[in-house]
Amino acid sequence: MAAYRDIKQLYIGGKWVQAQHYTKLHSPYTEEVIAKVPAASKEEVNQAVEAAFKTRTVMAKMPAHQRAAILEKVVSLLETNADQAAETIALEAAKPIAAAKREIVRTIQTYKFAAEEAKRIHGETLSLDAAPGGENKLAYTTREPIGVIGAITPFNFPMNLVAHKLGPAIASGNTVVLKPASQTPLSAFFIGKLFEEAGLPKGALNIVTGSGRDVGDQIVTDPRISMITFTGSPEVGIGIRNKAGLKRITLELGSNSALIIDEGTDIEKILPRCMMGAFDFQGQVCISLQRIYVHESLYEPFVEKFVEAASRLKIGDPLHPATDISALISKKDIERTMGWIEEAKQAGATVATGGFTQGNALLPTVILNADSKLKVSCQEVFAPIVLINKVSSIKEAISQVNDSRYGLQAGIYTNDLQAALNAADELHVGGVMINDIPTFRVDHMPYGGVKESGMGREGIKYAVEEMTELKLVVINRNGPK
Ligand code: NAP
Repeated sequence: MAAYRDIKQLYIGGKWVQAQHYTKLHSPYTEEVIAKVPAASKEEVNQAVEAAFKTRTVMAKMPAHQRAAILEKVVSLLETNADQAAETIALEAAKPIAAAKREIVRTIQTYKFAAEEAKRIHGETLSLDAAPGGENKLAYTTREPIGVIGAITPFNFPMNLVAHKLGPAIASGNTVVLKPASQTPLSAFFIGKLFEEAGLPKGALNIVTGSGRDVGDQIVTDPRISMITFTGSPEVGIGIRNKAGLKRITLELGSNSALIIDEGTDIEKILPRCMMGAFDFQGQVCISLQRIYVHESLYEPFVEKFVEAASRLKIGDPLHPATDISALISKKDIERTMGWIEEAKQAGATVATGGFTQGNALLPTVILNADSKLKVSCQEVFAPIVLINKVSSIKEAISQVNDSRYGLQAGIYTNDLQAALNAADELHVGGVMINDIPTFRVDHMPYGGVKESGMGREGIKYAVEEMTELKLVVINRNGPK
């Protein structure tokens, strides 16, 4: 396989093609130029969509065992190239290499689930005689591929979130035009090479890079594309929904995820999970732990232990194996988060640790007594910032968690079964994690949000449902009438 840093071409109709225009890709950590990446023109995007449109019948007719075999081959190629794949993520996203390696392990899982799911896409038989006039009629449903899928992905899991689009799309016999985030195109090209090597028909996957406003917009509005699957910020997601017309749409958006810690919880035991939830990949995870509501009986000791652990994290080069925290994705995000921290300070909140930058990294930051109206609380911080607040009851904590525009996942640690089940009922989110952090995710579980966290579900089986059309067949057993 060619060295990943040399791949600078669009992938259209099964060919790697030179683009008319290029932009430079910089490392967020060193700021060096790491690649020149195509900025696809209107015509180039048009060619990619046309290739996907023409190939949709080839994919729709491909037997399930062949679709599964292609995905299985991608799994084995990714296993072979796992280190190089993880380095690609670390280089372009500044994801610490240990976290990048974990992402590759999950990406392999995601494609494995997709290969398995390809073989069990089926409908059901229906009892039409439940209605008068339905006697002697046999009915069944099938699931047909939707056609061309436009996939638009974010920077933060450049391999695994692409896998959550390509895996179910190929498993269910669709074709794809993929537009990865401008900061993380190399991972998308990397996986494109693996699909090519795995024998995916030419035109079934097309990769176009360039700005979201231009390339993304063209994909969203092209009538040959039947579905948009988008993962990214609520602002962009809402804009896409407004433009997509009658296209099928899945939106996986942001959050300010929260955790409740009830009295009686063993805080020593849960501390490593809470640290991981708050600071993994610099907090740039959609279900990153942003708000923690701790029962007053445990508040002081929890804060003390958490702050101590946060101040021990190692800041540095994403390619160094000991690094916990590296650069934020852009300088703009450093300015934004520093502004939000300043606003919190001005309003009387306490910065217990962090609140400073080191190079392009923001130090792990813990804020106490932050009002729910502050940006660090009510907006998505997407940075290594966590708020810890005191509550006197679970009821109060639930109402604080629900006081949000978002609703992706929430967590509660409690030894009280009734409290746990009440929280599961009352929390207005897509997924409730009992005795775990909201950041828990494995790749086959249904995943998605309510409110401004999005619509539709991923998790391969659920994404396959979104990416297929239900068709009904009725057979009149009385013969032609
Ligand atoms: P983003 O800025 O919304 O970008 C996401 C993708 O949309 C990128 O490919 C971007 O291209 C493209 N885009 C931008 N403007 C567009 C437009 N007008 N039309 C069509 N596409 C457009 O998000 P991000 O900063 O990459 O990712 C962080 C966000 O993703 C956070 O809010 C996070 O919570 C969310 N996220 C959600 C989940 C989930 O499963 N719920 C998972 C991961 C991340 P450019 O890069 O060229 O701008």
